[in-house]
Amino acid sequence: MARGTPHLAALSCLIFLNCLTPLISWPANDQDAPDMSQPDFDQYLGEYIKPGDTLALLLDYDGTLAELTSHPNLTQMSDEMRLSLRNIADSGKAFVSVISGRDVDGVKEKIGIENIIYSGNHGLEVLYPNGTRHNQGIPKDVADNFDKMIDQLNREVVHHGSWVENKRVSITFHFREVREEKYIPEMAARAKEIIESYGYRANPAHASVEGKPPIQWNKGLAAEYILGSSFDPNWRQRKVVFAGDDTTDEDVMKMIKGTGRSFRVTKDKELVTNADHKIPSVDSVYRLLKWIEARVA
Ligand SMILES: [Mg+2]
Repeated sequence: MARGTPHLAALSCLIFLNCLTPLISWPANDQDAPDMSQPDFDQYLGEYIKPGDTLALLLDYDGTLAELTSHPNLTQMSDEMRLSLRNIADSGKAFVSVISGRDVDGVKEKIGIENIIYSGNHGLEVLYPNGTRHNQGIPKDVADNFDKMIDQLNREVVHHGSWVENKRVSITFHFREVREEKYIPEMAARAKEIIESYGYRANPAHASVEGKPPIQWNKGLAAEYILGSSFDPNWRQRKVVFAGDDTTDEDVMKMIKGTGRSFRVTKDKELVTNADHKIPSVDSVYRLLKWIEARVA
């Protein structure tokens, strides 16, 4: 090989890793970092929310209302958070909706408050307090591939602690519990290929790859639908607050930019976000809820 020419194997390896970069979202390695000083919600919201305002509060669940854990089943919302959220939802002055990547029944079970509109699968499913549901339509040929996609993922990429979460209309391939990191790039890349081969969209998330049906729908459109159909058709003239911790939450932040107020839960000072403010932790979300509760309850 001529001097100065990059070795072909090294070059292909570099290209391979580069292709994977957008796919891999590591576990929130900032979890152990100390909290920044607590946000000043008087400064962030004091001018925006006035006494007597009716407010819509939209929230993500995992990493926002509850700390991320090694397995979604282990995630718990604190009793204090639940009490504050219930007080806001029952105040009569605030409309509350939780929009999660979990399946809708799963997120309702985790939170356990009746007077909330729950949305699951990143907005594909909506469950109202009276039990009625609204689901976005998924093409039949794609829906028919769903079980086959899960079978192939289980056969080919589920090993060394990775697993597939079946959310009925979408899946999440989790590699948060894979201890030997050398396996992760290849399993994440192969999971993406398999998901796409069945006509689903593959998106990176926290230590996972999500497989969603190929329909133009996201948390932002879901939030718009929920606000317009259940809060107020003229919701853009009303006060809307949103908090979320993940890339999928950016669609909501974009959608309410300029009219609402949004918070991205992150300790990453360099992170580029559509949110109006960054807040450092689930605990700071609790302080946001307490701030709102003091004004509406
Ligand atoms: Mg989240």
